[in-house]
Amino acid sequence: MEKNNLFKRMDQLETHVGGLHSELGEMKLLIKALLEENKRLSIENQQLRDLFKRESLLAVEEASVEETEAHEAPQQKAADMPAAAEELLGTAVGEGHDNLARLYHEGFHICNVYYGHLRTEGDCLFCLSFLNK
Ligand SMILES: [Zn+2]
Repeated sequence: MEKNNLFKRMDQLETHVGGLHSELGEMKLLIKALLEENKRLSIENQQLRDLFKRESLLAVEEASVEETEAHEAPQQKAADMPAAAEELLGTAVGEGHDNLARLYHEGFHICNVYYGHLRTEGDCLFCLSFLNK
């Protein structure tokens, strides 16, 4: 093989590797975007499931209250409702913090600067200060 030909082939190989490298970079960005979208959708899905569960529980409760209303005093219902609502709210706040902590440990930002983006560079100080609040 002629030396000139060898150089030409090395040159082609270099161009080829450069192309592969930029393609790899594009693929990495695409995968990052897909992972972020997937996480957003699974969170939204979970929130909708929770909402649906709460709505159907409330519907069942209302139906049973209506059923027993004819026999019981109306004050009973008024006394029960705030306690139930308070309980629901209390668990919602606790759950919210747990969900954020889980999201962070799954590798996503929970800070208001990069919320929902994949953490590609280890811990984030904004997120950590938010978690420790
Ligand atoms: Zn962050």
